[in-house]
Amino acid sequence: MTIDLHTHSTASDGTDRPAELVAKAAAANLSVVAITDHDTTAGWDEALGALPPGLTLVTGAEFSCAYDEPDGTRISLHLLGYLFDPDHDGLRAERARLRVSRLGRGRAIVDNMIADGVPVTWNRVVEIARGGAVGRPHIARVLVENSVVASVDEAFAALLSSRSKYYVPKADSDVFKAIGLVRDAGGIAVFAHPLARRRGAVVGEDVIADMAQAGLQGIEVDHPDHAPDDRARLAVLAGELGLIGTGSSDYHGTNKTIDLGTCTTSRAAYEQLRSLETARQPVTR
Ligand code: AMP
Ligand code: ZN
Ligand code: FE
Ligand code: FE
Repeated sequence: MTIDLHTHSTASDGTDRPAELVAKAAAANLSVVAITDHDTTAGWDEALGALPPGLTLVTGAEFSCAYDEPDGTRISLHLLGYLFDPDHDGLRAERARLRVSRLGRGRAIVDNMIADGVPVTWNRVVEIARGGAVGRPHIARVLVENSVVASVDEAFAALLSSRSKYYVPKADSDVFKAIGLVRDAGGIAVFAHPLARRRGAVVGEDVIADMAQAGLQGIEVDHPDHAPDDRARLAVLAGELGLIGTGSSDYHGTNKTIDLGTCTTSRAAYEQLRSLETARQPVTR
């Protein structure tokens, strides 16, 4: 059983339409795939409608969150929500707020670049996003198109890094509020890539313990952005805190170089997730 619980489609910053995503998941011999676009459930219906026989779909989303350190530093982090009720008012309103913020923030990053003479236009970013939740990978594609950089990776290493002078943060959700909303909507709350240090500062283990106290149920252990010793430590931490340790590729199509099923969730961990009470159930045709 190959289980990949974190992927993106064109509903956010992936490059496969939801129907293509599930077709590729079946072709890659996955048994279970989760669709977890940033701050949206817009890909769910198309993925469900195109679900190949034998493949199980877990509906989810990846929420843009932040943790404020006591010294005032803000750390951005991602929370996966699985099998929640998409019609839960509070969580739906929060997703809408995050998507609106992505638009203003994406535009502000582009404006900063234009002011500095970088050839990029907001119209082209919106065209490339094709109605999906706008993210930095869409801006990166325009930068590649206009030969400012050679690849999306290069764009992230330089102009689009959180340390770049063009960078503008998003209006993220407070992570404790987001955990509460996901749980209230009948979902499972899993901390995505807790130690993805390449993206910026990460929270300490004390904060992960506080998140567990607040209702967090799992953490991603095996993730492409985690070094081997970080994976080992997270597996131990999951045990200590009673959290389910998951694994995923965080597939983004050609916006990243990681294939479906690159990192996976064990059958035992998946069974533990399945044993939790949820508003929705995984779907198999
Ligand atoms: P944003 O959500 O707009 O802040 O952009 C962050 C998104 O870009 C995350 O979903 C990351 O997975 C993705 N990302 C981060 N680094 C890279 C990279 N080097 N290449 C492609 N995508 C990346
Ligand atoms: Zn993404
Ligand atoms: Fe993420
Ligand atoms: Fe992701």
